[in-house]
This record gives sequence, C-alpha cells and structure tokens, in this order.
Amino acid sequence: MRNSKNLRDYTLEELEALFTNRGLPGYRGRQVFKWLLKPVSDFAELTDLPKNLRQELAQEFSLFIPAVKKVETAQDGTQKLALELADGEVIECVLIPEEDHYTLCVSSQVGCAMGCAFCLTARMGFRRNLWPHEILGQVLRAKELLDQKKSPKPLRNIVFMGMGEPLANYENLIKTLKTLLHPKGFNFSKRRVTVSTAGLVPQIKRLGHEVTVRLAVSLHAACDEIRSRLMPINQRYPLTELLEACRSFPLPRGWRITFEYILLKGVNDTAQDARRLADILRGIPAKINLIPFNEHPLLPFKCPEERAILAFQETLLARGFVATVRKSRGRDISAACGQLATRLAA
Ligand code: SAH
Repeated sequence: MRNSKNLRDYTLEELEALFTNRGLPGYRGRQVFKWLLKPVSDFAELTDLPKNLRQELAQEFSLFIPAVKKVETAQDGTQKLALELADGEVIECVLIPEEDHYTLCVSSQVGCAMGCAFCLTARMGFRRNLWPHEILGQVLRAKELLDQKKSPKPLRNIVFMGMGEPLANYENLIKTLKTLLHPKGFNFSKRRVTVSTAGLVPQIKRLGHEVTVRLAVSLHAACDEIRSRLMPINQRYPLTELLEACRSFPLPRGWRITFEYILLKGVNDTAQDARRLADILRGIPAKINLIPFNEHPLLPFKCPEERAILAFQETLLARGFVATVRKSRGRDISAACGQLATRLAA
C-alpha cells in the first residue's frame, strides 16, 4: 500500500539520525524538517537543498499530505474538513473558532475499536491507525485554510477528540506530539494540546512520563455498572484502576485533569450520579466538563433537559468542583462530539 516512507513520520531527532547515518551532515535533516512544517508535498519545492539530494530523497521518501476532499461550514463558523488519505480512506477534523484563536479537533485513527454505545464513530468499527504525517496533515490543512481566509486569529489549541482512541495508537501519537510541541517544530504550547482517552490505563501511565500535555478522560459514569454498559473498555480497566492512574499522573503545578461526562437522559444524569461523581473524583485535581449528549437517529440515547444539566452542574459546584458545560459546536454539519463517521454519513 505504501511503498515509500513519509518524511513527516519522523521526529526531528529521527530525521537528523537518518541523515547522519547516510553520511550526510545533520543540518540537512534540520533543513528538511523546516519544510515539513509547511504544506509542501513535492521535493522540487525544497529549494534550499542541492538538486541531487532532492532527487535522492524523492526516490525513497514521500511528502504526501492528505488531500482536502470537502470543507463544510456550520452556522456558528465551525468548519469540518474531510481529508482523503493515500489509500483512499477518509478522515475528518474540525476547526473551531474561539474568541482570539482557533481550536483544531483531530482524528487519531480511521474509525475506532472502543465501541462506546453513545458514539457514532464506534459504528464504523476500527479500520486503521493514522501515521504521524496523517495527524500532522490535519494540522497543515487547517493552517492552510486559515491562511487562505487571511485569518487574524492563530490556530492555538489542538484536541485529540476526533475519530479514534489516541492512546490505542500510542507510538504514532507520541511522535506527532513531539513534532507539535518542539520549539523547532510546530511549537504549540503544552498547555494547549489535549489528549482525550476512553481510559487505556497502561498508556495513561506511560504518557505522563514521556511528554507533557493536557489529559482528558472520558468518564461518562460514576459507577462501574453504568460505565461498563456505555464503554466496553471499562470491563478491562474499571474505575478504581482508571482513577488510580489519574491520581498518579504527573501534573505540572496548577494543572488539572479534565473529566468528560456526557449527560444521557435517564442513564447517568440524576442527582445521585452527580454526588457519586463528586465522591470518586475527590482528591484528584479535576475539571469536570459536562457534555450534553449530541443526539443522532442511529444512537439510542437522549439529551437531558437544560434544567437537569444545570442541576447536575450545580451539585458538582456545590461540592467545590470546577464544572463546565460544553457548548456544542458545528452540530448542523455533523461536526459535534461523537458525530464524526464519514463512512456512515456517505
Ligand atoms: N477516544 C477518545 C477521543 C475521541 S471522542 C475518548 O474517548 O476520549 C471525544 C469525546 O467525544 C469523548 O469524550 C467522547 O466520549 C465524546 N462523545 C462521543 N460521542 C458523543 C456524543 N454523541 N455526544 C457527545 N459527546 C460524545
């Protein structure tokens, strides 16, 4: 399927090593790396490299970036980009305008294997992991779109909340994060990059020791019985293990772990659920992000009334927690949380 290795699959250090191993000076690796931060896909564009080196690289490597297949714009300005990969698979990412910046929600896999009952992506099943160049490609295409719009606001935040479970694509995720965070790479602030997980405990333990980024955990229930029904992964890593991994997650001073909690009418939205949630999170530096369920004809849940959502939030606030209600963005173009599923929509 892929006969040449994509240069954006290498971190800066790996690229330098690749060059020195071939007897080329390390600075050539750094020179090439700079080009990888721009949307160039042809070696001819690497104008500061000797022509023979360009030709040599072109024989062995690729600079392919996923192609923009479709851009949809929601009423609230949110844009969804459908990108086509080299093998014809299609992924989506969502560009969300905020007051003084943009947030990009990226996908980490084609489809997803987690099988969460409330998520449309789960219905696609798992197709494959994304390579670093396919995740970075989402960032490049989003930046390109902002450049075309002459946007005065920068792309500042990246959230791994699109299709897929990022921690199930661990090696590619780490490489991607290194390039996103590196001062000579995309230079994103570690405060502005969030990895969201359904709760893969071994990888949560590794992550905190390998890179510093924000962690978000999709909790969605405060007891094992409900959580296992909603999220099959809970049968493998139940709440006590998950919360223990969160308790020992190395956090810089002042940081909190975000706990996402989708409110599903009649399933996990009672006052008792809110009290239990407060109990199990006690002692963890936490920010609770309540997500009103985004309904879909294929999904067997309903969103609670606004009154119930606010009451749930109130119970948490009264117990001293930071608790916010997530605004749904881009719902009219199926860009909201849990609605990314190209194959189903097609
Ligand atoms: N696999 C990762 C990241 C992708 S999902 C994770 O589980 O965290 C990003 C967020 O959207 C998760 O919190 C997920 O539970 C939530 N989500 C999924 N389907 C949803 C829906 N229909 N309505 C609202 N949020 C949803």
